Formats: sequence, C-alpha cells, structure tokens
Amino acid sequence: MQSLHTYRTLLLLALGVVANLSAHGLTAVENNELGIKAYNAKSFAEALAYFEEAYEHASDNTVIKHNLCNAHQEVASQLEKENKTREAIRHLELAIGIDTANPAPLIQVASYYLKENQVSDAIFRLEEAIELKPGLADAHFLLGEAYYRDNDLPSARVQWDYVLEVKPDWPGLKEKYDKLFREEAVERDFNSSSSRHFQLSYPKGVRQNTRFLILSILERAYSDIGRKLGGVYPPDTVKVILYSADQFSEATQLDSHVGALFDGKIRTPVTDSEGEWLEEKELSRRLQHEYVHVALRHAVGPEVPWWLNEGLAETLSRNIDTSRSRLLQHAYTQSLTYPLSQLEGSQLHKLDPDALALAYAQAHATVNMLWTKYGRRRAVPMLEDLRTGMLPEEALERNYRKTYAVLEQEVANAFR
Ligand SMILES: [Zn+2]
Repeated sequence: MQSLHTYRTLLLLALGVVANLSAHGLTAVENNELGIKAYNAKSFAEALAYFEEAYEHASDNTVIKHNLCNAHQEVASQLEKENKTREAIRHLELAIGIDTANPAPLIQVASYYLKENQVSDAIFRLEEAIELKPGLADAHFLLGEAYYRDNDLPSARVQWDYVLEVKPDWPGLKEKYDKLFREEAVERDFNSSSSRHFQLSYPKGVRQNTRFLILSILERAYSDIGRKLGGVYPPDTVKVILYSADQFSEATQLDSHVGALFDGKIRTPVTDSEGEWLEEKELSRRLQHEYVHVALRHAVGPEVPWWLNEGLAETLSRNIDTSRSRLLQHAYTQSLTYPLSQLEGSQLHKLDPDALALAYAQAHATVNMLWTKYGRRRAVPMLEDLRTGMLPEEALERNYRKTYAVLEQEVANAFR
C-alpha cells in the first residue's frame, strides 16, 4: 500500500496555494494555514479540526477539500494502526463524501473493509475508485483480492493479470496468482455460468471449459476496454447468448458474414458453419468487438455514429490485416469509399456483404488513425460530447480539430 502515501504527499503540494486565494474570506485561509502547520507537525487530529473549520466557511474550495480529506486519511491510518478499524472507516467514508474526485480514500477504505471481511463493501468502493481513475495498481490489486474472496476467480485473475503486467514485482502477487490458478483449474466444475459482470446462456454441448474461457475473455474485456475508454464500467450484468452457427442465423435472421452482434444482449456463435468450434483467438476477437459496443452504449447512449461504434469496436479488438489493407488501398485509389456522413446511421446492415465489408474496413481505418495518433485523451471527451447529443461531425471538430472532409483525406492519404 505504499502508493497511498505517495498519493497524499502529492496532494499536499497544493497546500500553499490557498493562501493566495482571497475570494474565500480570511477565516478559511487562516484555519487552513493553521491546519497545514499542524499537519506538517504530524498532529493530524488537530489539523483535522482546523481543516473542518476552514471547510465550514469554504466548502467548495478544492484545496481545502483535499486537505480535509488528507487529514481524515492520516487520522484513519493512525486509528487502523491501533486496530480501531471501524472508527478509521468512519473517517474515510466522510473523506469520500468531501473530496469526491479523489480515489485515494476509496482505496484506503476498501483495504480496511477487506480487513473487516466486508467484501462487497470493498468491491463497491474499489470499482468506484477505478471508475474515477483507471489503472491505479493498488486499486486493481485489492479488487483482485476482493473478487478472489468473493469466489469470483476469473474476475480476480483479470485484475491480477493487469497488476502483474504493470508492476511485475508486486510483493507476494506471483504466489497468490499461482494459487488462484491451481484452484481455478480444480474448481472449474463448481462454477455456474455467470461471472461478476456477465451471464451466459448456452445450448447443450457447450462445455464448461468453453464457457469458462468465454467468461474470462469477457471479464478481461470489461476491465481492459473500460480502462482504455477512461473508466467505462457498465454496472448491470451483461447477458451473453451462445449459439451454434445455425442457431445464430436462425435466431438473428442474419447471414453467416455477420460474426456476432450486440442488440442489448451479446449474441455470438461458438461454431463455424461446418460445426467446428471457433478458435480461441477468433472467439476472443468477436467478444471483444461486441463488448466495445456494450461499453459505448453505456458511455454515450443509443446514438453512437455507426463509423465510430464499429470503428472503435474493430480498433480495440484487432489490427488491420493484409486483406483489409488491400481492400482499403483499392477502394481509396479508385475513390470507391463512402463519405463519413453516410456512415453515421445504423441501417447499414442492409448493404450487401461486399459493400458492408468496405464500410467496416473504412470505419476501422478511420478510427484506428484517430486512436493511434491521439489515444483516449481526445476520444473520451468526444464520447462525452456525443452523450450530450452533439452531432458527430461537430464533436469531431471540437475534439480533433478536423472536419469530416479533412479526416477522410488524411485516411485516404495513408492508403494511396
Ligand atoms: Zn459491431
């Protein structure tokens, strides 16, 4: 838990700033300054009293909120060391309500909840922390621990995978991970076909290890894609329906060129038209693609422009392969491509397979360029703008400083 301390130290750098703020009256400033003195002298209870006084008079001041939160956190640490964990939790819950954009008290309180074995409270606070600031290793580590305790092994593994990726030397994690892995192998038969965020329906013949694999892929997508999109984590269980290729066509009335779909539920075949099981890589690609639609539905609402929805789903689930690249080269050289304004609507599935393949390729190439060049830094605010009902091209111009015409030209240049 070293990083909790680092976090609080960083926030303290802002302490001096408030002395220069004149708008909030002398009382708040003076109390804040006295609080800082006490805090630096490690008299945290005293500091807490001063910051509370300052907060009374300037409850909207960001620096004072930070300071009050920090003081609560330090007092909580002291109480926890004295094994007064419940009291410590009360301080942290107060801090969470005061400094609402700060993940640090959420992570700290979750570690205490785990100590108290209040697993679902810990999960609730950690998921909140990750939503506020995706990627903090200690939040993901603790969430893995909480899921593990909740006997949700696939979800736990996804969290710990991530920590091992960014902090391979996390103390003790390799051992925990190996243990989980062994248990997972044995307990496979004990699990039902739900994981934390997904519920599978499947026909006879879909074996347990296939279902288990699918849930693992989906939980990983939930975590990874949620992080990539800046903290998008749909709270409701996502329903996933598995079919054979024939059943899929029968149920959805779609031809075999459609790999899978999201229509409020993720629907995917697990076999090809010959009745052979899809390879893991292919299954994974399709599920990730569909999960991006789930995440975008949650982040933006129902009105995601088609080219962005499909383009992002493709970009986050696969690379542009050789055949797609050839198709794009041909289409851009011969000027056969669509204007982006024609790729906004959702009636596009009525196109014939070849035309649809080009539309997908073009959406992929377009979003791939935006994502590779600018990443989520611009994509996330664009999604937020779309959520407010802004028109797609307007949102593009606002966040990328490009019109459709300019973007079309840039993508074309890359393939000519
Ligand atoms: Zn799609």
